[in-house]
Amino acid sequence: MSNLDIRVQIAGSSGNVYEIKLFQWGGKTKLRCDCQASKSGYFCKHRRAILHKDQSGYDSRLGVLGSWDEMQEALDATGLRKRVLAHEARRVELESDMDSIKDEIKAAKARVAAACEGGD
Ligand SMILES: [Zn+2]
Repeated sequence: MSNLDIRVQIAGSSGNVYEIKLFQWGGKTKLRCDCQASKSGYFCKHRRAILHKDQSGYDSRLGVLGSWDEMQEALDATGLRKRVLAHEARRVELESDMDSIKDEIKAAKARVAAACEGGD
């Protein structure tokens, strides 16, 4: 895996083509995309698509270096998919909790207003 360097290209919703690269550097496995969101430090939808095996934006006719299957196998072999998706699952869980808390706050505000009107 020391010479790991797999690249696939994915067509974005805007028609732009982005390159996602799986490689190792400094003893770490990295998955990078050359889109602006990724460069700005965000988990972009292109990397999300690759990690979730969503091929809807993938076009093998584009000058692909490394195949989709090769990328998918390496994401599992290196453990990168497992690590990233575990963190993403936690984010989804927290957002769900946040939605519940927002609902509770809304209900609490309604009770405050009701109390002003003589309610319990
Ligand atoms: Zn991207």
